[in-house]
Amino acid sequence: MKNQKFGDMTPIVVALRTVRTRIDTAARAVERDPASICLLAVSKTRPASDIRAAFGAGQRAFGENYASEVAEKAASLVGLGLEWHFIGSLQGNKTRVVAECCDWVHGIDRLKIAERLSMQRDTSRPPLQVCLQVNVSGEASKGGVPPNEAAPLAHAVAALPRLCLRGFMCVPEPSEDQSQLRRRFALLRQLSEQLRAEGLALDTLSMGMSHDLETAIAEGATIVRVGTAIFGERGKEVKTAETAKTGEPVSQ
Ligand SMILES: *Cc1c(COP(=O)(O)O)cnc(C)c1O
Repeated sequence: MKNQKFGDMTPIVVALRTVRTRIDTAARAVERDPASICLLAVSKTRPASDIRAAFGAGQRAFGENYASEVAEKAASLVGLGLEWHFIGSLQGNKTRVVAECCDWVHGIDRLKIAERLSMQRDTSRPPLQVCLQVNVSGEASKGGVPPNEAAPLAHAVAALPRLCLRGFMCVPEPSEDQSQLRRRFALLRQLSEQLRAEGLALDTLSMGMSHDLETAIAEGATIVRVGTAIFGERGKEVKTAETAKTGEPVSQ
């Protein structure tokens, strides 16, 4: 079906426009400048061709959560000058590849991982921009530092030479209850205000995804991480035996 308004634009380009409009509307509703909110396009599991389509529509920042996948995509798209954000949970043996190919890391919840990233970040490159992940819903199985341990970790990470601590990130437990989500996001904002009062120069709240970006923006999100609303449902792509086993795409 040809859409009159959007003509021949690809579905990704149309979806990107829709998401940008959502961000704009949500920002204006709480009297925030839409330009103060960065859209991170979460391209995990998506082929490089989808990233090129989004790039063609002006998108520059992309989020991935597997180390091998971001390394492969960053290498194959190196000429585009994209900004790569690692948003997954990071194991010690994967820090080097992330320190080498990413600009941002959002999921830090242990000092050990931050120390490795700092050590492995090449001195010829700008410091790695990082956010600490906070477990705002108190889910036992989830990543993230408990809220009451966030302050000491933030001060320790801020002191590492090759990292630049920018703020906090969270992935609240999914809920239809927007007022509960809003309380989770508010917790992250309050933590950030507390640490700023303690002298850290934090400017980033990485929160809000496809289903709750409006609520996150109302609580001060500066980066929203959006996958499904741009690229469609994950898991609909063709799976090989290998991706089914490991959850990671196979290197070509
Ligand atoms: C996958 C993922 C997202 C994007 O979620 P959508 O619901 O597809 O928008 C955001 N943040 C993190 C940490 C993710 O792993």
